[in-house]
Amino acid sequence: MHAPVAPHTARGGIDLGGTKIEAVVVDARNNVLGSARKPTPNIGGPPDVAAQLAAAVTEAARAAGLEVASLEGVGVGSPGVVDPEGRVSGARNLSGWEGTFDLAGVLAKKLGTPVRVGNDVQVATDAEFKLGAGKPYRSVLGVFWGTGVGGGLILDGRPWIGRGGAGEIGHVVVEIGGAKCGCGRRGCMEAYAGRDSMEARARRRVEKGRRTELFTLMKEHKRTRLTSAIWAHALERRDKLATELIDDAIKALGAGIGSALNLLDVEAVILGGGLGVRFGQPFADRIATAIQPHLFNDQNPPDVEVAALGDLGGAIGASLLVGRAGR
Ligand SMILES: [Zn+2]
Repeated sequence: MHAPVAPHTARGGIDLGGTKIEAVVVDARNNVLGSARKPTPNIGGPPDVAAQLAAAVTEAARAAGLEVASLEGVGVGSPGVVDPEGRVSGARNLSGWEGTFDLAGVLAKKLGTPVRVGNDVQVATDAEFKLGAGKPYRSVLGVFWGTGVGGGLILDGRPWIGRGGAGEIGHVVVEIGGAKCGCGRRGCMEAYAGRDSMEARARRRVEKGRRTELFTLMKEHKRTRLTSAIWAHALERRDKLATELIDDAIKALGAGIGSALNLLDVEAVILGGGLGVRFGQPFADRIATAIQPHLFNDQNPPDVEVAALGDLGGAIGASLLVGRAGR
């Protein structure tokens, strides 16, 4: 049991994902006091998403025995480009989010407490830097290997967001004129390593007559997409196509991350995301090996570590946007 929490010292954090919303309430030392998970609405638009975010953090507060309005504030990690006032644009993987939406303003009004919004991948990187696998370092590159490949940067102890759009390591080019990426460009790292792209590549090869257990496993597990768990099962069964596509993904990650390291020379790469966390340290080691031939400074490679905060890392990271923790 936790000791009773003084009012206005607990903070809320919400990770807004393409499929699910995770909310936590943490105390001043970042211990999780309550949490809640809800599906992301896949119809409607930003107001519906905002309502679901409010419901999730209200439930997390209730689980912590607190009123949401008594929180010091609530932080949100959102996809897309986030401006300093907490307006979100370009959240392409959320339903009906074409323009710019004042997420911080709308949510603050609903909850009766201040709201700050940051980019989801950057807040997850901040969380790993302050509380997780990045703690021993001053400069880290977070690589979130999942549906797409996201990146977050901490340089000399401070987040680097550029003009709001930094960290897009998934769209570093690993092959000029190469495979078509979800972003519409060609040859991006994500076009080889993102889970959505890997699934599209698998389907095209099956259409051309390749055999694989990937889609049988998907149906057996009652999934409609190739999830990280399905890829892991297929690799355990030594499925040839799955093995090939994962090998291609690791090669692309090696080239893309290696190029980023030549520019930035950070001390560590923190590997997160659905695939990164599911595959764990053996794959972090394989990625380190794939990076090596691309490193100019090859005598002194950085550490490659798996994210330590797991599923709640994004929500805990978002809570760090609030109040004193946010400075
Ligand atoms: Zn791209």
